[in-house]
Amino acid sequence: MDNNATTQPRQCVLEAQTQAALACWGNAASPHGVGQQAKRALQQAKQVMAGHLGCRSSEIVHTSGATEANNLAIAGVFEAEQFRRLPRRRILISAIEHPSVLEVAEALETRGALVDQIAVDGMGLVDLADLRTKLSVETLLVSVMAANNEVGTLQPISQIAKACKSVGAFFHTDATQWLGRMPLNVADWGVDLLSASAHKLHGPKGVGLLYRRAGIPIAEQQHGGGHQGGKRSGTVDVPGVVAFAKALDLAAKQSDWDLVIALRERLFEGLQREASPVQRISPHEGCLPNTLNVRFNRVDAEALMASAPSICCSPSSACSHASSRPSHVLLAMGLGGEAARECLRFSLSQYTTAAEVDQAVAVLSKAARYVRSALCEVA
Ligand code: PLP
Repeated sequence: MDNNATTQPRQCVLEAQTQAALACWGNAASPHGVGQQAKRALQQAKQVMAGHLGCRSSEIVHTSGATEANNLAIAGVFEAEQFRRLPRRRILISAIEHPSVLEVAEALETRGALVDQIAVDGMGLVDLADLRTKLSVETLLVSVMAANNEVGTLQPISQIAKACKSVGAFFHTDATQWLGRMPLNVADWGVDLLSASAHKLHGPKGVGLLYRRAGIPIAEQQHGGGHQGGKRSGTVDVPGVVAFAKALDLAAKQSDWDLVIALRERLFEGLQREASPVQRISPHEGCLPNTLNVRFNRVDAEALMASAPSICCSPSSACSHASSRPSHVLLAMGLGGEAARECLRFSLSQYTTAAEVDQAVAVLSKAARYVRSALCEVA
């Protein structure tokens, strides 16, 4: 129940990766036959991915994951802008972004960027009025994630894109948690840049992508042999890209998430019944189908997890660095520090079973009773 941290790779995806590694092991930048064979496999995979994203394959830059894609998008746009005569310097990001967005923006402040955050409401939804107030003709770039990794909130991406366009600002979205779970089309959304990662959709780790709309200037962040049109140097991991395309294809075919939603609701109802008082932090509507963030009142989430080691969930964002600080996402949504420390994130997958959900309810409710009674004894 920690699929927002990573997912179990599908066997046929790994088989496709191995097959490509054995048959297309050449360097796709080499002009000879072996290289060209790898290039053909790469182009085929890119075409599949472009079909799922609604873009041209030439608009996809392959990266090592979403962290690199976010860095390339934000630092790349900022750096490219500095070559203009009157560069824009303002960057707006939502308050609930992944650290790979928050921290690259913070790092750019030392290079002259003026970074501001867009507020969110109690459900984690971006405050469009706050965005519109902060947007100006000096805004270079806005970055708002499509779906939040900790609470699952989905953002009104098209509306944000429209607002950005009205002042000529570029719009980047981190769609790492969205891609593979719900349909997505970059043209319909109107985004300029989009990041994603294969390991969130039952693909391999270490493979990601940045969609960059044709003509959006980005400066290379990894210098070298000028691969991928000079946008990201380094020999392309062709088998990884083939596996990413296969994972995307399968995710699109297995698009029935109703069962996962039913299991998520079974989990919440079970916890409400057996572990009360609990509070739903994730929104009911406009939420990733697999994600549920729950507050166990008067129970420290880390103590709860330690008392229930068989349940794989997350006290905060497992894909961010280990830290006992309360989640910045929950704080931005208005929770106090103590309340934020009482929240657990559950993220299911299409492999999750009803038996696992029932087991989680039984184990966690017992552990919550134990932690609460230990607290009473101390008091
Ligand atoms: N963005 C979001 C929203 C995430 O949930 C994650 C999770 O790890 C990342 C970015 C980083 O992805 P990667 O592990 O591919 O670098």
